[in-house]
Amino acid sequence: MITMKDIVLEGHPVLEQVAEEVTLPPSKENKDILAEMLQFLKYSQDSEMADKYKLRAGVGIAAPQLGISKRMFAVHFEDLDGKTYSDGYFNPKIISHSVEQTFLSGGEGCLSVEREVPGYVPRYARVTISATNLAGKQVKLRLRGYAAVVFQHELDHLNGVMFYNHINKQDPFFIPENAKPCDILEDK
Ligand SMILES: [Zn+2]
Repeated sequence: MITMKDIVLEGHPVLEQVAEEVTLPPSKENKDILAEMLQFLKYSQDSEMADKYKLRAGVGIAAPQLGISKRMFAVHFEDLDGKTYSDGYFNPKIISHSVEQTFLSGGEGCLSVEREVPGYVPRYARVTISATNLAGKQVKLRLRGYAAVVFQHELDHLNGVMFYNHINKQDPFFIPENAKPCDILEDK
C-alpha cells in the first residue's frame, strides 16, 4: 500500500525529469503500480483510511511522485458537473486544446508540495487527451474546467513541470486576458 512516505517531495530530481514512455500493451508490473496509485487516491479520500494511515487527500498522482520516471498517472475525483473520473492512464497526450485558459480560484496544491503556494495557475480551459487506460484500452477524453485542470497538472509531472512553474512571478494573481476561473459557477 502506498503511503505518504512513498511520495517524493519538491526538489527531488525525478520531479524535474521528462518521464519515459511506457511500453504498450502495459506490463503487469506497470498495471499493478498504476492500480496501487489509484487505490492510494481512493484511500486518501476515505476519512477512515486517511485518518488511520495519515494520508493527505489527493485527486491525482503521477508515477514520478513515487520516484518512478514513467509516463503514467491516476486520477480520482468528481468534477463540478458531478461526473466521476477514476482511472489510471499510460502515455497520456494532449492532442488538442482551447486557446481560452482557466484556473482554480484557490490555486493548486500537490502531494509533493508541503506548503501553500499562492497564485493562479493558468491552464487550457479545454483539452482532448488520448491515452491507454488501466484496463489497457485506448481512450480519448474531452475535458473542460476542473477536470481539464487536474489532468494537465498530472501531465505536467510527466514532463518535469510543477504547478508553481506556471504562476506569474511578478504578479501571482495575474489573470491572463483569455482566462476565467473554472470553480466559480456562472449562469450557463
Ligand atoms: Zn502534483
